[in-house]
This record gives sequence, C-alpha cells and structure tokens, in this order.
Amino acid sequence: MANDSTVAVLGTGIMGAAMARNLLKSGMDVRVWNRSREKAEPLAQDGATVADTPTEAAEGADFLLTMLSEAGAIEESVQGGVLGSLANGGAWIQTSTVGTEGNERLAALAREHGTPYVDAPVLGTKGPAEGGQLIVLASGPEEARAKCEPVFEAVGSKTVWLGEAGEGSRLKLVVNNWIVGLLGVLAETLALARATGVDPNRFLETIEGGPLNAPYAQMKGGMMIEADYPPSFSAKLARKDAGLVLDAAAAEDLRLAIAEAVAARFDEAIEAGYGEEDMAAIHEAVKPGL
Ligand code: NAP
Repeated sequence: MANDSTVAVLGTGIMGAAMARNLLKSGMDVRVWNRSREKAEPLAQDGATVADTPTEAAEGADFLLTMLSEAGAIEESVQGGVLGSLANGGAWIQTSTVGTEGNERLAALAREHGTPYVDAPVLGTKGPAEGGQLIVLASGPEEARAKCEPVFEAVGSKTVWLGEAGEGSRLKLVVNNWIVGLLGVLAETLALARATGVDPNRFLETIEGGPLNAPYAQMKGGMMIEADYPPSFSAKLARKDAGLVLDAAAAEDLRLAIAEAVAARFDEAIEAGYGEEDMAAIHEAVKPGL
C-alpha cells in the first residue's frame, strides 16, 4: 500500500506525538486523538487532523495505531464502535507496551471485531521516536505484513518480524527487564560511589569505551549525577513495565528477585513525587542521605 494511507493515532504523548509527525512526513493522512485534547492540538500544525473522539479518528482509516500508557487505557479508548469504524480490511497496529496478558486481551478484542491485529511494541525512547529510528517488534498475521510496512518504515529504522501476535510483546518484556535492571543497578552503583567517596563521574569515565560500558549507562547516569530528569520515558511507565515483567514471570512460576527490587525502588521514587520525571529518577530512591 502506498503512502496515501490514512492512519488514526490514538495517544499523542511522548511517543505517539513523535510517531504521528513521522507518519505525516512520510505523506500519510494522519488523524490524532488524545484524551487531553490540548496535547494533540499542536499536531494540527504538522498537518494532522485532530479528532474529538477515537471513533471520529478511526472512521474509514486504513490503520488504527495505539500508543497509550497501558492495556486498560487502550481498552477504554477503543471500546464502542472504534474498530468497526475502520475501512474494510483496516488493521490495528498496537505499539504500546502492554505485556503478555494485556496483549492477549487486546488481541481478543480485535478478534471479536474481525480486525487484523498486529502486536508491534517498539524499542527506543523519545529521541529515536522523533528521529523515526524506532525498532519495531512486529508480530501478527502474515497477510498484514506488507500492508503495515510503510507505517513501520515511517516510524522506525528496523522492523523485526516475529510470528503470531504476542511474540512482539513477549520480546519487548525481555528487553525491558534488561533496561529496568540496568537502571536499578546503575542507580545503586552511583550511590555506592558517592557513599564511599568516589566521584560518580569517575565510574562513567572508567567504563566508557570498554566492554563494561553501555551507552544507556552514560546517558541515564549523566541524568542521575545532575539530578535532572526531563522525561523521555517516565518513572511511572518504567514501573508499569517492571510490573508487566513480574506478571509474565509469575505466570511461568519464575521469580525475578532483581526485577522485584527494582520495582520497589521505582515505587519509592514515585512515592517521593518523581513519577512524571524520567525513569533515571529511580536514583532519587537510592540516594537519600548521600
Ligand atoms: P506518555 O507520554 O505518558 O503518554 C501516555 C498516553 O496515554 C497519553 O496520550 C495519555 O493521555 C494516554 N492515557 C493514559 N491513560 C489513559 C486513559 N485512561 N485513557 C486514555 N488515554 C490515556 O507515555 P509514552 O512515553 O508516550 O508511552 C506510551 C507507551 O509507549 C507506553 O506503553 C510506554 O510504556 C511505551 N513506550 C514508551 C517509551 C518511551 O521511551 N517513552 C519507549 C517504548 C515504549 P493524556 O495525555 O490525556 O494523559
């Protein structure tokens, strides 16, 4: 399908707004809806049509692209006639991080309406989303692949096609366990440095360029040292993802002690008022007293 497709984007937060802009740049007709309309309105300047309701956005569209915080919010937003309003053969591309059980619920909703459903969570944060450099972990019906390709090319630099819907969400959780674990141990490592009189910058400088380094550690570690957390990925949503990891593990009788500890650290940071700040603010839960 050429780029004359119409895409209804539900959710214009950090990720959804950036993705909608890249869809517009690729020449697609984009309609946006956001619960708080004021966050969708700036997209009108980029050429998007701002819809008052999800159904209005979806009416006759070739794709419904959801980028909302979590599965419950998506269920609320697509209830009623939204899926039934899509064009004949219109597909639902679900890009939010919803975990295994959340994905199953959404896939079931799509089945009820006979809507092709592509489970397509993404890797990459605000910067990659703005630059059209996300990695899309796509899974869903074979016949939807070619149709979805222009959408994925507009928002990402790479699409990893997996098997049946659900495989994308499972891989996403595995990656996010790595991310939140890294954040947790980074926060504690920097706190240990401060507590023992080591300049935390020394730690980052020491690992830089070698096998122990992670670009993510440099990026988030810098934020922790500066105690400046402009949100690329909020602490609140990182905590949600840690919970999804724990739920998926528990369903398989697997105990993840490190993920449990990191989730508890996120809870402390959120309790202290850092929920809307970047996930690097987990450091605030570790450093009191330092
Ligand atoms: P965000 O900026 O916080 O945006 C969240 C969106 O969800 C907003 O549009 C918000 O609407 C909407 N929302 C929340 N509760 C809702 C409800 N009950 N009903 C309707 N809409 C609701 O989040 P984000 O960073 O863009 O993340 C979106 C999704 O992508 C999440 O699943 C996240 O885990 C995932 N993700 C994020 C990143 C990242 O680095 N940021 C990377 C990959 C994946 P309002 O504006 O009205 O609150």
